[in-house]
Amino acid sequence: MRIVMIGPPGAGKGTQAKLLQQRFQIPQISTGDMLREAERLGTPLGRVAAHFMSEGQLVPDDVVIGIVDDRLRAADCGRGFILDGFPRTVVQAEALDRLLDGRGGGLDAVLHIQVPDEEIVRRLSGRLVCRDCGAPYHRDFDPPARLDRCDRCGGALYQREDDQADRIATRLRVLAREIEPVTGYYRSTGLLADIAGLGSQAEVFGRIEAALG
Ligand code: AMP
Repeated sequence: MRIVMIGPPGAGKGTQAKLLQQRFQIPQISTGDMLREAERLGTPLGRVAAHFMSEGQLVPDDVVIGIVDDRLRAADCGRGFILDGFPRTVVQAEALDRLLDGRGGGLDAVLHIQVPDEEIVRRLSGRLVCRDCGAPYHRDFDPPARLDRCDRCGGALYQREDDQADRIATRLRVLAREIEPVTGYYRSTGLLADIAGLGSQAEVFGRIEAALG
């Protein structure tokens, strides 16, 4: 199963991708997570990406396409994958088609998770992430026992720099500009499934399962 998930930051792409990962035993590939890890490790890629990420801007296409190309060659992608946060531009979508064509298997579905802007702002501005294991929490909707510690691993929790209010506004503007052509691209191929992203995790997952047939 080869799946792409697209939608605004805070739509629940990561959460739903993890549920799909368990269901189909295929890896979740999040370009945001890979770029943050590269930044944490201080690699040359991480240094390039850090500047764009902290401003809520997209990292250049060739950089992101390169890391996805490498990742899709890994053995664990043999049975499929869930791409989360990629492609975000038509250039990336076209590059992905070329990568997959060369490897004998196109996409099975593109899940477009839709959540209204006001809800995105509420979700992101309260989001806390564990520095060690990446587990996400929310100050109000899914609080950890202690606001500064991860319930799972005890790591320190922090607010992503790009989850600060002014950065969220920039990310939503960038997204509105970028996402339409990408959804249009996949709609024209008949792969796009619009999924309402409001409701519980289980409800949203039920809609995804229905869309995947
Ligand atoms: P995310 O965790 O998906 O919200 O991504 C966080 C940040 O990483 C974005 O605001 C971008 O700066 C960068 N990023 C992640 N995926 C991509 C992508 N496919 N293309 C360009 N930039 C990306």
